[in-house]
Amino acid sequence: MSCYPSSWAEAIKALALGELGFTACGIARAEPVEPAAVERYDRWIASGHHGDMTWASRHREVRNDPRLLLPGAQSIIMVALNYLPATRQPAGAARVALYAYGRDYHRVMRARLRRLAAHVEELTGGATRACVDSAPLRERYWAVRAGLGFIGLNNTLIIPGRGSFHVLGAVLTTAAIEADEPCTDTCGECGACIKACPVGALNRDGDAADASRCLSALTIENHDEQLPPELARRLDGRVAGCDECQLCCPHNASAVPTTVADFTPREAVMRLTPRAIAEMTAEQFDNEFAGSALRRVTLATLKRNAAEGLHN
Ligand code: SF4
Ligand code: SF4
Repeated sequence: MSCYPSSWAEAIKALALGELGFTACGIARAEPVEPAAVERYDRWIASGHHGDMTWASRHREVRNDPRLLLPGAQSIIMVALNYLPATRQPAGAARVALYAYGRDYHRVMRARLRRLAAHVEELTGGATRACVDSAPLRERYWAVRAGLGFIGLNNTLIIPGRGSFHVLGAVLTTAAIEADEPCTDTCGECGACIKACPVGALNRDGDAADASRCLSALTIENHDEQLPPELARRLDGRVAGCDECQLCCPHNASAVPTTVADFTPREAVMRLTPRAIAEMTAEQFDNEFAGSALRRVTLATLKRNAAEGLHN
């Protein structure tokens, strides 16, 4: 594969890190996922640890080769956007994961990715495809390959010096753009997240989290009438997501809040309580959470989660 001028990479990163406000931007060659990473993922699926995330077991072939997402793809541009809010919900609130305090990150990221993709097309003449949780693409794997950071034992992408409170996005392109070196950092001896997880969903081997136990997956992806009682007892007021394994991570100790206005905590999240959810009508939910990631959880599931908090 021939590589084009490094000025393309420089121009793309300048836009991404400047005007578009991404925390990090890197470029990987679009090629099949390494066999070791494929095996690891297959093991996770075979163990059933993907829990209710049934989508994770679909589209295996595409997930293992991003060139099937965009014919002729040669490069993957990976970006990270900081969502860490400057303020937190008060004590007694129905606890919502920090990424869902403001506007739905899919919308926020997609708008920025479109601009980045348009710039890439104009610059290189190549075709593009933007992805934010919208395609079977192993975003964290490609973020490592693009040099953004490493995957911690808490299964998040950790950007050295910037932490893990970021959403990831990708622009695939048929243009051959100078690639970055993959990140080779690791968690070392830490293990703080394994101890902090309230349900023992993490492990020292770094195999992906057991989503059949993880409170984040259970509160968001599981829509059964009831949660397994022994796990529901550990919710501790959480109604959508869990941040425990990120809050304890030393890489987040000096993480700075986002400057993205769309991620400003919405008032409805700050005053959300289990009681308010129990009494909330569909109309109120629609009005107060239009454009919020909480809509993906659904009101029925929020009510189920909140009921656990009221009963325990
Ligand atoms: S999100 Fe919460 S429950 Fe899930 S692995 Fe992290 S600490 Fe454990
Ligand atoms: S808490 Fe420690 S082990 Fe867990 S992801 Fe952070 S650095 Fe890695």
